[in-house]
Amino acid sequence: MAGFMFWKKKRGEEAPVEVREALDAPDSSESLIVDEPIVVEPELVAIEPELVAVELPKRSSRKGIRSLFSRVKFDPANLDELEDILIQADFGLDAAIEIVDEVKRQAKASGAESEQELKGILAGVIAGALQRDDAALNLSDGKLPYVFLVVGVNGVGKTTTIGKLANWLTEGEWSVFIGAADTFRAAAVDQIATWAERAGAQLIRPKQEGQDPASVAFESVEAAIKADADIVIIDTAGRLQNKIDLMGELEKIRRVIEKQAQISEVLLVLDATTGQNGLAQAKAFAEVAKVTGVVLTKLDGTAKGGIVFSIQRELGIPVKLVGVGEGINDFAFFDAGEFARGLVS
Ligand code: GDP
Ligand code: GDP
Ligand code: MG
Repeated sequence: MAGFMFWKKKRGEEAPVEVREALDAPDSSESLIVDEPIVVEPELVAIEPELVAVELPKRSSRKGIRSLFSRVKFDPANLDELEDILIQADFGLDAAIEIVDEVKRQAKASGAESEQELKGILAGVIAGALQRDDAALNLSDGKLPYVFLVVGVNGVGKTTTIGKLANWLTEGEWSVFIGAADTFRAAAVDQIATWAERAGAQLIRPKQEGQDPASVAFESVEAAIKADADIVIIDTAGRLQNKIDLMGELEKIRRVIEKQAQISEVLLVLDATTGQNGLAQAKAFAEVAKVTGVVLTKLDGTAKGGIVFSIQRELGIPVKLVGVGEGINDFAFFDAGEFARGLVS
């Protein structure tokens, strides 16, 4: 299958029979299940928005992921060396030990000896440790427009990620509004404007320089509702997690958005190359901004992909998207299997 399937609520159109059947069917591994089955009551059809299947293009992250084990000899007597590599790659000591113990156990049980067999086992164990069932973006829950709030420290890739995401959504025929609520630097508005134009998204700009970001967020959601848009993505200024007033500003942005719409996702963008410092950021943002998912960028520039594991285990927050380059298509949904194969290949 070429892309990801989402079910989008579309106003005034009835869902095709296949969609309703698919929604009633038990889990299909090919689709991201993003909504409860709908009960269609005849008298409601006219007013309730229906769900339509929307296929969004699949993006692969494989080319961007660095192999960790290219210099290691894979044989049953040498498995302890894998531990060191996992630790250097930010998996953390405990996880590294657990993963290698499990690889040893499976290798022994299956009698695996060849490099190929052992790599297969390692990839499987890593994938198993990273797999979770809440990694899909929330593109179905509640009323349109869905609001995504994007937060993080400076330079991690928030604006770039928004450009990529907006482009991907417009390719799937979602109408996208972007709120330029990074009003702190004048250049920030121009930067997001360039991305919005490339992505075919509508940009809501601050009325004057330095306008309160919360008020820009408010106006963006208001404009999106008025235009019947599907998605609003709010860009925010980078802020350090230890600056109390700036973190408070995020809380205000949230509060103000929620006057008009529900927030589907609060995406925390983290730069994978910053390693353990990213974890400290994530802890602070998770609390104040109620982060629902992490976007891990710059995975193309680092061999520290194990931070995915630490984020998920220590914070309980799923990594939902990864950035693997500066181009508009250089991102993907985080896929544990694909990621693990990339690390091990
Ligand atoms: P912001 O300050 O968080 O909004 O970050 P920007 O979106 O302005 O990005 C900062 C820099 O990181 C830019 O030079 C981007 O091109 C670069 N960047 C963003 N995402 C990625 C990525 O996934 N891989 C690489 N290699 N660079 C990225
Ligand atoms: P410093 O030089 O380490 O104190 O910090 P910065 O250069 O990051 O910011 C200086 C001051 O500018 C902060 O104390 C904030 O009051 C303000 N500031 C920085 N970033 C932002 C932002 O994103 N939004 C707003 N509203 N103010 C900011
Ligand atoms: Mg930015």
